[in-house]
Amino acid sequence: MSWFADLEQGPPIEVFALMKQFADDDFPQKVNLGAGAYRTDEGKPWVLPVVRTAEKALANDETLNKEYLPILGFEAFSTLSTRMLLGDDSPALKENRAFGVQCLSGTGSLRVGAEFLATKLGKTVFYYSKPTWENHRLVFLSAGFKEAREYRYWDAQKRGLDIAGFLQDLKDAPEGAVIILHACAHNPTGCDPTREQWAQIASVIKEKKLFAFFDSAYQGFASGDLDRDAWTVRYFVQEGFELFCAQSYAKNFGLYNERTGNLSVVLKSPKEIPAVKSQITLIVRGMYSNPPSHGARIVNHVLSNNELFDQWRSNIKTMSSRIIDMRKRLREELERLGAPGTWNHITEQIGMFSYTGLNAEQSQHMVKMHHVYMLSSGRISMCGLTHSNVEYVAKSIKETLTD
Ligand code: PMP
Repeated sequence: MSWFADLEQGPPIEVFALMKQFADDDFPQKVNLGAGAYRTDEGKPWVLPVVRTAEKALANDETLNKEYLPILGFEAFSTLSTRMLLGDDSPALKENRAFGVQCLSGTGSLRVGAEFLATKLGKTVFYYSKPTWENHRLVFLSAGFKEAREYRYWDAQKRGLDIAGFLQDLKDAPEGAVIILHACAHNPTGCDPTREQWAQIASVIKEKKLFAFFDSAYQGFASGDLDRDAWTVRYFVQEGFELFCAQSYAKNFGLYNERTGNLSVVLKSPKEIPAVKSQITLIVRGMYSNPPSHGARIVNHVLSNNELFDQWRSNIKTMSSRIIDMRKRLREELERLGAPGTWNHITEQIGMFSYTGLNAEQSQHMVKMHHVYMLSSGRISMCGLTHSNVEYVAKSIKETLTD
């Protein structure tokens, strides 16, 4: 007898399966547009120079040791992270009714926040955009939510936001439902609401008494400007919302495997902080006890030093400018080659990803026939493009659409 003999095989996680397939492919011109990680114009991973500087300083600091961090993590790091998100003049900070909890990158921050909402506030229904980052559903259901629902977001016909559908689905949501919102650079579409549209979204969320849970995985990385990319969250705070925001340092600090993140919590009153903190403490204690310190120390070292902070901003600019440049180049190539359709959406979308408009069959054709690895949704990572492969990718798209 075996306890495991009847276990069904779980489905593969598309993006990880695709990366394995890419690694096993020996075609010389293969291109990886699947992975959500920054690459240089030589196609190489990049450790931010400011991160190297911080790591050297930390390695030489003999006062640091390997003892446990507190359950809620490195407090100085969390305080600086929440401040970076909300802005120095945030009403929530001035009124001492916001705080942060160091969590395991963006995913862990979402998970801790979701588990708090499900198990401590009894929330059962959550909404995510159609489409969204493929992990939202699994994270929230694993955290104890009972019902996953979608709100309309992407209009494939016009290759833009379906704001009417979005607002209607929010209006039809039950009171208290949790709404996952991408703070900026929507993954996978690269298409964000305008500020006017955010104001409409906020007003429905207020009127229908819904709870906004922001996912901020790309602050600074999207536009190159930390403040601009935080506008939406700051707007909601100014409008008086209570909210959660999961912050990731995977992309904007390049700390992917250090699992460095922060759950920012904005409440109505400072009086509520001790109870909320104590309940989050129990969740973390039962889940992983306390977080790792290395990434948080790096971020803290940079955010607490004006000179390094400026260097970080300039590293972010390097990454976001390269992505913007690749968007331009890809669009130019597609237009020059006369690839069927319009390509303005490539330069209008922002952030790491672009929704090309290719359907599942066409995307699979790109992988099989051209060795250009992309998700079946038609999503490509702009970071995988370089000056030497952009023409090949554009040709492959053209051939796929005309085959
Ligand atoms: N949310 C979104 C929208 C993302 O794109 C990502 C990264 N792919 C994350 C959250 C979390 O990533 P991580 O856990 O690596 O910070």
